[in-house]
Amino acid sequence: MRVIRLFTGHELRTACIGCAVANLTETDYPGTIHVSPFFHVHQDIETALAGFVIISTRRHVTSIADFTMQELQHFGPTLVAARKALSEAGFETVYIFQNEDSADHFHLWLFPAHPWMKELGKGPAMLAEALRQVKTGKGAQQPSHVVAIARRLSLSMERYLD
Ligand SMILES: [Zn+2]
Repeated sequence: MRVIRLFTGHELRTACIGCAVANLTETDYPGTIHVSPFFHVHQDIETALAGFVIISTRRHVTSIADFTMQELQHFGPTLVAARKALSEAGFETVYIFQNEDSADHFHLWLFPAHPWMKELGKGPAMLAEALRQVKTGKGAQQPSHVVAIARRLSLSMERYLD
């Protein structure tokens, strides 16, 4: 059992963070952006960095190789809608990343480059350094601001997925 502290101050106690998050609603967690029968899109639950969006599966699977045909059919439109929503919210450059060894529940990161990250360079080395700095609190933003961006992303995504 892991205890996860959300940036909003709430705590989650769960054997699998992905399964716990997959059932959160906007009422449970205001960083919830879009929920379909197949995917849960949300602001990263631990990091108060606006626009740091996670797409996770509703089912407990590890890899895109485990997706059903229905999940595959919904994955592309969900990813593109999330990426377009980030553009609308002003994020020009987004790193899209999935790591099968950091957790055993599929989750894809859309990590937006913030202006303060420019000095860190580009590419995977920039992403690694930005994440390291974010984990130590660099660039942390007010939870109310992060939630406001998530609500904006939610409205944009609904429009793209209509
Ligand atoms: Zn899971």
